[in-house]
Amino acid sequence: MNIYLVAVLAILLASYLLDLVADLMNLRHISPGLPDEFKDVYDPLKYRESQDYLRENTKHSLVTDGLMTAITIGFILSGGFNSVDRFARSFNLGQIPTGLIFAGGLICLSRLCHIPFDAYHTFIIEGKFGFNRTTPGTFIMDIVKKWLLGALLGGILFSAVIGIFREAGPLAWLYCWGVVALFQLGVIFIAPAAIMPIFNKFTPLEDGELKTAIEDYAGSQGFKMKGIFRMDASRRSSKSNAFFTGFGKLRRIVLFDTLIQKHTLDELVSVLAHEMGHYRKKHVLTSALIMVMTTGLMFLILSLFINNRGLFEAFKMRDVSIYASIFFFGFLFIPIQTMLSIFSNLLSRRHEYEADAYAALTYGKPGAMISALKKLSVDSLSNLAPHPFKVFLDYSHPPVLQRIVALKKMAAI
Ligand SMILES: [Zn+2]
Repeated sequence: MNIYLVAVLAILLASYLLDLVADLMNLRHISPGLPDEFKDVYDPLKYRESQDYLRENTKHSLVTDGLMTAITIGFILSGGFNSVDRFARSFNLGQIPTGLIFAGGLICLSRLCHIPFDAYHTFIIEGKFGFNRTTPGTFIMDIVKKWLLGALLGGILFSAVIGIFREAGPLAWLYCWGVVALFQLGVIFIAPAAIMPIFNKFTPLEDGELKTAIEDYAGSQGFKMKGIFRMDASRRSSKSNAFFTGFGKLRRIVLFDTLIQKHTLDELVSVLAHEMGHYRKKHVLTSALIMVMTTGLMFLILSLFINNRGLFEAFKMRDVSIYASIFFFGFLFIPIQTMLSIFSNLLSRRHEYEADAYAALTYGKPGAMISALKKLSVDSLSNLAPHPFKVFLDYSHPPVLQRIVALKKMAAI
């Protein structure tokens, strides 16, 4: 048996098993007792609901991932990649258009398989727990918009990468790194003005107590920004959030309309102070740097596998090509990606504590930060007691109880 085929199958199965083990441990870790800290915001019935929500979501993702892994393995073993390649080549176009048809065909197939699972999640699970506000019309329009945007941006990038690997010789990976990194940073730069408005409406926050309080706080921290916006998140879900987008003077503060509805002024400013903390402590810059370094590492390793005969035989391909090399390499990169994501989650959890501390110190109201965190986690029925292994693997934020403990320690100082 081909060694690459063994490696790819082992990687797919191991990566599913890892998630399965973490999820099962997480489910067994559910504790029936409501933590003292949450007695004022949860009643036992609502707390039980949060555990049912965890069970249903876990079951859904295990079934989805299990079936998708099985479909992928079936597709590899039955020579599905070669069939798509024969189809793409039947148009007798150049390498780049053929590559675009090949990639487009595979991505469409995979997305089509995901639609029923996504619909079940949005309408059945989120609906059952009262979160869903997405209409079937919005659901379909979102898919159409995401596909068009993905085809446009992905198409440009994929063409560039194929072209560079075809022309640039041994240093191609370095040029690809430069081009893709610039593209990634460019997307972050233009997203607030050009991409996000495709999906949501952003209206400047009206004058009033809240706007003044946010501006006063931002001013006291010397924080420059373009404006404060309200986003119509309630079109899709009742869950709430806030975030910053853009760089430097172009930065915008975005508040979900659902967040504004449910929180007090002090809680809202605390949430924004936390977000500002991420900028002030250079977390945003660090994450961007890590993203750029990861891209470089990926292209360096990819360059070692371009047109690798053995890898193409594993996928039952008749002809080698740069475009298919990129896809097949993606499977080999999964373990490295898992390790990188564990590392970036670890860093991100540290950053969350630092941003919480920044908010508590600079705004001076740790109590408001704590009550905002409590409201947010009740509001989204988040798991109060995740298993440490699940946290280690998947959590970009520390469990809420640990954040509250850290904030209380600060308040006591
Ligand atoms: Zn944060």
